[in-house]
Amino acid sequence: MDSKTLILALVPVILAGVLIHAVNAAIQKTTDGPRWWLAGTAAHGIGLGLISLRGVLPDVMGIIVGDILAAGGFLILLEGVARFADKRVPRWLLAGLSVLVAVGFPFFTWAMDNAAIRFAIFGVAVITPCLMMLPYLKTIGQRDGLPGVRLLRYTIYYFVAALVVISFSVLVFDPDMPSVLAPNQMMAAGILSLIVVETNLVFGFVLLSAGRSATVLKRAALTDHLTGLPNRRAFEALVIESFTAPPAPDVATAVAVFDVDHFKQVNDTYGHDVGDAVLQHVAAILESTIRETDHVARLGGEEFVALIHARSGATVQNVAERVRRAVQEHPFVHNGHEITVTISAGLVEVTDDHPTLTALFKRADEALYRAKDAGRNRIITAAA
Ligand code: GH3
Ligand code: MG
Ligand code: MG
Repeated sequence: MDSKTLILALVPVILAGVLIHAVNAAIQKTTDGPRWWLAGTAAHGIGLGLISLRGVLPDVMGIIVGDILAAGGFLILLEGVARFADKRVPRWLLAGLSVLVAVGFPFFTWAMDNAAIRFAIFGVAVITPCLMMLPYLKTIGQRDGLPGVRLLRYTIYYFVAALVVISFSVLVFDPDMPSVLAPNQMMAAGILSLIVVETNLVFGFVLLSAGRSATVLKRAALTDHLTGLPNRRAFEALVIESFTAPPAPDVATAVAVFDVDHFKQVNDTYGHDVGDAVLQHVAAILESTIRETDHVARLGGEEFVALIHARSGATVQNVAERVRRAVQEHPFVHNGHEITVTISAGLVEVTDDHPTLTALFKRADEALYRAKDAGRNRIITAAA
């Protein structure tokens, strides 16, 4: 089969990919990775277009520029994958690879008489950036899930295998191949397998993008917008998870509902925006006082909730007390003026084997009500 025609047939496949990447880049605003994929795919496609016009175009376009763009496109894709993982390909590495592709690669292909070896060099130039994507894909998979990562991984393995098999077959069976584009069944098989690779790369990248959108939405649905704390829904999920985990020995667990005292007065005196800032301030204190293995969330309004675990020695009451004191001792500063904030809490120890959150919240609320009644700025533990 005629290799040039086959390569030309790849161009519309890649053009479709460019259009898909353009739409994806316009939608996915959380990262500039997709814009690099768009640029890389376009460069690669233009390169292949030029290669398919070898003999028609001057050699400098059909060979040098064509090869540089076709291989260099993968370097741009690589940088896009790194950015999508919120990383960067080390500058020196990217610069080194770019120089190799832009200078070394045309030099070697020009210096090598043997077309089979020229093809193998092209293979190395496109495979290296693909293999370098793998660690970044791992990071992305841990953050956003695996579908796109899997498709891209399998595609890269397939690409490597196809290039290795074809390079070796050409070197062994047709070492005197006059040109990379000469009619040759093995080269044709290689170019046809590129159709699989090009298509899968586009779908793989779009799947990465969809995975990321899902992660961002999920995080937003579980986060309180004002304080950045987990919201009630997230807290419920965390608590259910911790209730179903086997209990550690000597550990007491409690749910504490915290409510800012006389918060309405803060709003009425300083304005709602200062009230918001006070809530952020209280949230930050809660978060830094509660241990990382415990959970704190905003229930809504000026109410917060914590799931507290206490090791032997410390009690859950001590932990809740430490939180109350921390809030009292760190006044909110507004225009150089200190606003002392206090909180009250109702605390309920988890003693049942299968507690329900509704029942726990009800008892904590009753205890909280008593704390308010008793003068605020205190913690009351619900009777067992
Ligand atoms: P108590 O000591 O009995 O808890 O008195 P309180 O004033 O804190 O309680 P109350 O329930 O009367 O008032 C709560 C106030 O919290 C009323 C509401 O306007 C305000 N609030 C609820 N959510 C927000 C918010 O997101 N931002 C601000 N600034 N205020 C909020
Ligand atoms: Mg309240
Ligand atoms: Mg209140």
